[in-house]
Amino acid sequence: MFVRREATILHADLDAFYASVEQRDDPRLRGKPVIVGAGVVLAASYEAKAYGIRTAMGGAQARRLCPNAIVVPPRMSAYSDASKAVFDVFEDTTPSVEGLSIDEAFLDVSGLRRVAGSPEAIAERLRRDVRERAGLPITVGVARTKFLAKVASGVAKPDGLLVVPPDDELAFLHPLAVERLWGVGPITSAKLRGLGIRTVGQVARLSAPILVSIVGRAAGLHLHALAHNRDPRRVETGKRRRSVGGQSALGRRRRSPEDVDAVLVGLVDRVTRRLRKGKRIGRTVVVRFRFDDFTRATRSHTLPDPTAATLTILATARMLFHATLPVVREKGLTLIGIAVTNLQDEDGATQLLLPFERRSEIDVDVALDAIKGRFGSDAVTRGVLLGRKTGWTVPLLPE
Ligand SMILES: [Mg+2]
Repeated sequence: MFVRREATILHADLDAFYASVEQRDDPRLRGKPVIVGAGVVLAASYEAKAYGIRTAMGGAQARRLCPNAIVVPPRMSAYSDASKAVFDVFEDTTPSVEGLSIDEAFLDVSGLRRVAGSPEAIAERLRRDVRERAGLPITVGVARTKFLAKVASGVAKPDGLLVVPPDDELAFLHPLAVERLWGVGPITSAKLRGLGIRTVGQVARLSAPILVSIVGRAAGLHLHALAHNRDPRRVETGKRRRSVGGQSALGRRRRSPEDVDAVLVGLVDRVTRRLRKGKRIGRTVVVRFRFDDFTRATRSHTLPDPTAATLTILATARMLFHATLPVVREKGLTLIGIAVTNLQDEDGATQLLLPFERRSEIDVDVALDAIKGRFGSDAVTRGVLLGRKTGWTVPLLPE
């Protein structure tokens, strides 16, 4: 069996996700008890949780616990946008991401120490990037197993980081309440507590046959393994992606086309770097827009051949952006996203250059990727981000 020696699994989980998005978008809600959803509580801010309000609680009960709570209706598209922005950060962190839900994922960062630093440094950077790019607090647990990484993030919430070093695993785990064990719901919890078993350490002192006699065979063996931190599950990245994309919220302040262009350059840079890291190339470039009145638009263009070259994809994205400028000017832009779809695996030997691509362009991309991998994405910034006057000239697509 594969046993990991280093703590390289991250469990990243947004804090009070829907409520945090509401507090991010409406300053009047910050620092206040906020409940999302009127009938049933879909999410509660930490200020509301302090009154005992919990997700899935009835609205009437929640209002009795905290009459001053501000109740807001859910905005699912805002949460979906925020989730995409956060998963962008995950995908930029490591190719090995296993999404668990709209707001949490496991990430495997083994093998990244030389290029990206220790797992703790990677986790700190991830938290900072989520704060900067999505405007949201996220908690990260780091451990040698998935189970323990999830327990660690649960303990570190909100807005925290907790690394469990391999030598301290059982010392960390055993004092915790049995309910921290994955799979212990109200029924199992009641059975164990009825026998005076309150901590994970007490579970660990029971033999497997005794646990099986208390909670049944499957659950008993499962709890026995977890209480000793035995969890061989790997981070499963799942199927090959059908598209690679990124997006950036722009806020409601009016931006000049040049400002938006600089955002576009950053997005294309990240997305194409991710494509090259995964040895993927794509033919279709999609640009997504969300306007100030919450309407959306999508524009796409399919290239004659697949590519992962930054400048080619940037030129295509720019063309689509310029074609949409009249609408952007009229309505105001609050979010821009790009995606490359129609993906296939890169086959180095046969990858065709598009007629206007030069081999040197691909070589520049590869060289920049190596530098950014080692020194971080800020190490090299394309000319356009530093000063547009001296920016690279980007060839427009031929007719
Ligand atoms: Mg969460």
